[in-house]
Amino acid sequence: MSARRIERAERRVEQWVRPEIRRLSAYHVPPAEGMIKLDAMENPYGWPPEMAAAWLQVIRRTALNRYPDPHAKALKKRLRANMRLPDAAGLVLGNGSDELIQMLALLVGGPGRILLTPEPGFAMYRLIAEVTGTGYRGVDLNAEDFSLDLDTWLSAIEEVQPAVIFVAHPNNPTGNLFSEQALRATVEHAPGLVVVDEAYAPFASHSMLRWLGRYENLLVMRTLSKMGLAGLRLGLLAGPAPWLRELEKVRLPYNVNTLTQVSADFALDRSAVLDDQAARIRAERARLFEAINDNARLHAFPSEANFVLFRTPPGWGGGVFSALLDAGILIKNVGGAHPLLADCLRVTVGTPEENDAFIKALTGAIARESRAGT
Ligand code: PMP
Repeated sequence: MSARRIERAERRVEQWVRPEIRRLSAYHVPPAEGMIKLDAMENPYGWPPEMAAAWLQVIRRTALNRYPDPHAKALKKRLRANMRLPDAAGLVLGNGSDELIQMLALLVGGPGRILLTPEPGFAMYRLIAEVTGTGYRGVDLNAEDFSLDLDTWLSAIEEVQPAVIFVAHPNNPTGNLFSEQALRATVEHAPGLVVVDEAYAPFASHSMLRWLGRYENLLVMRTLSKMGLAGLRLGLLAGPAPWLRELEKVRLPYNVNTLTQVSADFALDRSAVLDDQAARIRAERARLFEAINDNARLHAFPSEANFVLFRTPPGWGGGVFSALLDAGILIKNVGGAHPLLADCLRVTVGTPEENDAFIKALTGAIARESRAGT
């Protein structure tokens, strides 16, 4: 397209695209070609060859000329059994839990409504609030252990009367769970919806699923992404049927495609494979945590997720991140995301070999920074 045409397109964009969207930047995913990829909380393991072969047989029988089942009946049945959901609970599926967050913001957000969430937290809550014209309010966690400062948190709920509260549990990028007492107080004080986002449930010691029948305003969100199916894009939201009946009106009819429905059903039928991988990831998490903390210059925060957040000495975060990149290892530099995360980096748990490579490169990077500083 000619430069003149592009320029004219720019002018029309200026005229028509909503100013609040123009002010945003699109969610950035860094290139990872050829790198050891420890930045995105993916499960590093594939499937055993027999399982992959059996899956291909299923895919071969799948018709792509038809639209997907709009209600994903077979998959929902499998998910209900898998999660032991009470029959009375409603269930809505999304194209990843990202899409469910967006659907919830469309349902109860918009001008004059507030989405409230602890910070530092998952970046998508804010992004989706902005795109949907929903007010956003973040409340700082305690600096030393990223727990909820209950007085401040409950006062914020009281003050802003949020339409929806998102609590990632375990939290991303800090990795911790919140206390049951804090979560109970949250649900009991919230005037609107509380969504407990359990994306990292396969790696955590606690879940709020058992509270589902107890509160009229509690929804629990899960995803298959972290347990090894990130490429499928499937998220699920469970809770009181009246909320989910309304959410069905926001959901696009075919948001979960046929290949995802069939493949997720297939994989969950063999959930022992995924459970075993999660157990290996938890064991490696413990090793990674200790290896980081063995370095006197570093502080790793305890994690109930498939990643570990750690802090470097002041001013070193960027240098350590770059040195790891130079060594072919991509993690996430979260230092600029929130003041409480200064000099913090987040590493996803990989295979033992990937973790060894990370630990070696990290040790080298810290030694280099130490020499540069003396
Ligand atoms: N919730 C949390 C807390 C997350 O960290 C993520 C992914 N990073 C998601 C939801 C989104 O997961 P997905 O869209 O892959 O289901």
